[in-house]
Amino acid sequence: MSLKIAILSGKGGTGKTTVSTNLAKVLSKNMKVLLLDADVEEPNDHLFYNVTFEEEKSVDVLIPKVNKETCILCGLCARECQFGAINVFEKGVLVFQNLCHGCGVCSKICPVRAIDEEPKSLGKLKFGKTDFFDFGMGLLNIGEPSGVRIIRELKKYISDDYDVTIIDAPPGTSCPVVEVLQKVDFAVLVTESSPFGLHDLKLAVSLVKEMEIPYGVVINRYDPAFAELTEYLGEEKIPLLMKIDFDKEIAKWYSEGKLIVDQSEELHRNFELLYENITEVLV
Ligand code: SF4
Ligand code: SF4
Repeated sequence: MSLKIAILSGKGGTGKTTVSTNLAKVLSKNMKVLLLDADVEEPNDHLFYNVTFEEEKSVDVLIPKVNKETCILCGLCARECQFGAINVFEKGVLVFQNLCHGCGVCSKICPVRAIDEEPKSLGKLKFGKTDFFDFGMGLLNIGEPSGVRIIRELKKYISDDYDVTIIDAPPGTSCPVVEVLQKVDFAVLVTESSPFGLHDLKLAVSLVKEMEIPYGVVINRYDPAFAELTEYLGEEKIPLLMKIDFDKEIAKWYSEGKLIVDQSEELHRNFELLYENITEVLV
């Protein structure tokens, strides 16, 4: 069976990268692993490995280009655009590139074929290998509003050849995260011991419940003094998959770009147990 696991967190800086990169390393000992960094606004999984990139490609969207000479200013394109991305004025037609989804409707319905389409780059994909597993990442161009299309393209690297695919999702619970969650088998929700962590965890829990995806929680920077978090998990019967203690040494390793499972046998074992716990929830 080929298992697809998404690593989520309701907010940034919670420890998604730590969980994704370390889990990938531990599993690669016995399995064929693919790690995809879908945190396209700020991918940084690659910083923890020597990656040999073998492929790089642009992800484009087709934007309409209106031929002034041919356009009869009929207004049909503006009426049919679901995204309000094209407006027709007395003197011409204006395309708002950032709103355009490249759906192609306007060019198809234009009665005088005044609309051509031209590619605009949204960002890029890179794919390659580390010493332990295959690796892919998406990178959204600065100023682009949504990474959904890049994530969709990145997920095309998923194949049954891999025993496990780990997808490091963008933070939050918006459209790019929903795109990551399409067709995954399990979601690991990473949170931390704080009121903000708990608040954002609840949002992430609602999302995976709504999408009917099996899930469990990893608490990073675990602090037993903040009991509300474990109480919430208990009340909601949410599986607690792993706790990573608050530890200055772990923060130091992270800042030095080191995998924590390489620094501590106990942490290595904990990540093995994390996978075992995931498979137990799935049984
Ligand atoms: S549908 Fe075609 S002809 Fe009509 S306003 Fe748009 S571009 Fe011009
Ligand atoms: S391609 Fe689609 S989204 Fe873009 S302007 Fe045309 S109809 Fe609107």
